[in-house]
Amino acid sequence: MLPLVALVGRPNVGKSTLFNALTRTRDALVHDEPGVTRDRHYGVCRPEGQRAFAVVDTGGIAGEDEGLAGATARQARAAAEEADLVLFIVDGREGASALDDDILRWLRKASRPTMLVINKTEGLESNAVRADFARYGFAEMLSISSAHRQGIDDLIDEIIEKLPDEGATAQLDTDPSRIRVAFIGRPNVGKSTLVNRLLGEERMIASDVPGTTRDSVSVDMERDGRLYRLVDTAGVRRKARVEDAVEKFSIIKTLQAIEQCQVAVVMLDAGEGVTDQDASVLGYALDAGRALVVAVNKWDGQTDYQRQQTEALLARKLAFVEWAEAVRISAKHGSGLRELFNAIHRAHTSATREFGTTEVTKAVEIAYETNPPPVVRGHVAKLRFAHPSGTNPPTFTVHGTRLRTLTDSYKRYLENFFRKRFKLVGTPVRFLFKEGT
Ligand code: GDP
Ligand code: GDP
Repeated sequence: MLPLVALVGRPNVGKSTLFNALTRTRDALVHDEPGVTRDRHYGVCRPEGQRAFAVVDTGGIAGEDEGLAGATARQARAAAEEADLVLFIVDGREGASALDDDILRWLRKASRPTMLVINKTEGLESNAVRADFARYGFAEMLSISSAHRQGIDDLIDEIIEKLPDEGATAQLDTDPSRIRVAFIGRPNVGKSTLVNRLLGEERMIASDVPGTTRDSVSVDMERDGRLYRLVDTAGVRRKARVEDAVEKFSIIKTLQAIEQCQVAVVMLDAGEGVTDQDASVLGYALDAGRALVVAVNKWDGQTDYQRQQTEALLARKLAFVEWAEAVRISAKHGSGLRELFNAIHRAHTSATREFGTTEVTKAVEIAYETNPPPVVRGHVAKLRFAHPSGTNPPTFTVHGTRLRTLTDSYKRYLENFFRKRFKLVGTPVRFLFKEGT
């Protein structure tokens, strides 16, 4: 289960700067795709080799200069109250203020584990800074500078240390014989209709999978002889827990479902095209490196003319994930579901394929010989050899020289070359470049 960390603090202390420092992906290629939009208040921190956690910037949700008094502050409150850890952010340059005192008062009421983080401390004498906040009574105070990325790695270590244990049940969630699928998408695209239809049709074992944590409800099903686990599934949750229909954390739920699955099925409403919210759901799935299938739902409600229009729109708006299969379905009538599950299976097969060093090096050699990288300021990158370094998504480490001069378009060429050569569909493909041999 992806834990939740909430950033709380008065306006201007640097919450959104810290949010960016925590959630910025190292993989620039993923981020620069045109067509992906991102919500600036919810993100995932993925420290290398450590646990990922979701981050919510509550200041953004609470609205401008709202402090924590206004009605819109309810969302911020709710996020902080549900968080596994709250970071109470203060401004080391301005020192403690009355508004900080107010915030601390309701944080105490919320009684979630809380850390005091003093921002903007670059160039300041740390004891003096801490003295100002000593009366808040935190055993530990972390000094950081979000803008200069100072203390961020230590902060991440502290956060991870304070998060609740993953629990012994984490193993249960990763049964290798099952394809873990999440149906995600904005409200009303038809997620629960689809899941309920699957439940009815497939006589799924509709009980909660034992051991899954908190709000997560997963169900197991079999289809055409293949085993699936539908993780953290909206429709099931709605059925199992009426109370939980509150959409306030739907983005967090989406992030958690993405984290738990191998294949993310992003559902769209054919009548609505690809909205910004859809694009941001797609963006989250991409950031997590998940295999992806797009299910264009409510296809039944479209006239032939509308279908043509929708096809053209999808081709344009989904160009940034053209490697993902888009399947037309009707959750209501149950049409297109065989194609959908075939696409899920293909995506899973591609995402989890094991590669050998020889075939990978061979592919790089051929790609390089067919189309060598362009000369950049008198230098040409040389690709020497490569080896596989991960699955779901397939990841390849390429060794060579002057790799820094490789352009984005050349990296894209490599990616597409690999896709074609290894017939990879429905999965992102990642490359790591290592200078030297
Ligand atoms: P928020 O309202 O809490 O989200 O604050 P912002 O992230 O928008 O930051 C408010 C201002 O503080 C901006 O002008 C930032 O550039 C600045 N700021 C953020 N972090 C730091 C920092 O570590 N040091 C300094 N000196 N300024 C910072
Ligand atoms: P969720 O919020 O994503 O779980 O969406 P729901 O499953 O609750 O569906 C939202 C609305 O869309 C409901 O009124 C459904 O009856 C309707 N709906 C769902 N799937 C289809 C479909 O395939 N075709 C049509 N015409 N309507 C659908």
